Amino acid sequence: MERPIVIAGNWKMHLGIAGGRAFLDDFVPRLAGLPDRSRLTVLLAPNLTLLAPLADACGAADIRLAAQNCHPADAGAFTGETSVAMIRETGAGMVLVGHSERRQFFGDTDDFVRDKLRAVLNGGLEPILCVGETLAEREAGQAAAVVSRQLESALDGLPAAVDLMIAYEPVWAIGTGRTATPDDAGEMHVHIRNELCRLLPAIAARLPILYGGSVKPDNAAEIMSREDIDGVLVGGASLAPASFAAIAAAAPVSPGHHA
Ligand code: PEP
Repeated sequence: MERPIVIAGNWKMHLGIAGGRAFLDDFVPRLAGLPDRSRLTVLLAPNLTLLAPLADACGAADIRLAAQNCHPADAGAFTGETSVAMIRETGAGMVLVGHSERRQFFGDTDDFVRDKLRAVLNGGLEPILCVGETLAEREAGQAAAVVSRQLESALDGLPAAVDLMIAYEPVWAIGTGRTATPDDAGEMHVHIRNELCRLLPAIAARLPILYGGSVKPDNAAEIMSREDIDGVLVGGASLAPASFAAIAAAAPVSPGHHA
């Protein structure tokens, strides 16, 4: 089964509306200049305030838009929160769920992540489920078990046909300049694929598994050359059009790769 190669940018709490527009003015021609983007899915997760203003330009450039978070309830007294229906109304088609910064700084538990993921699917949008271990968990030899727990909690019992992506982001590699070695990342991606086969056997082979954690133009090609690494989720290096475009240009596009 041929999966797309996904190049995803997470702008976190950077770039406002003017900055987002300026990014696209520079980035879109670079993307159009790639020799072959037929296998590439490019997506951006800007701040919520940019989703509606950037939706048309992203649509025209075949860039998918994702929210960085959502609330699982349809509506209610949840000051400062955003429902999936509200996100859908902006024109965004995807939502990041369980990003480690949400888990670390905003108390998103496995159960809350599970509720959000279901709300995204029920609302007709596509979740990108982020999983990953902390440094202490890796050093204690628990990395695979932690990732299994996060996957199982979020995905167990889902209907057989859903669209979603997984992002493996070791917490110690996010924003730190430290990347997992391609071997460590590759090994974890194989583990994740095996877990997907167990949890969602009917669709496991077609779900993209992205790697995230200090991906830069100079390490992107090696990371994406690994079997079962179907793309990258990029934070810091997605803020500059030139570096994000260079990462997109590093994606393997040759037929048969990642078959
Ligand atoms: C992220 O925010 O998902 C991320 C991977 O950040 P960075 O690339 O900056 O490590």
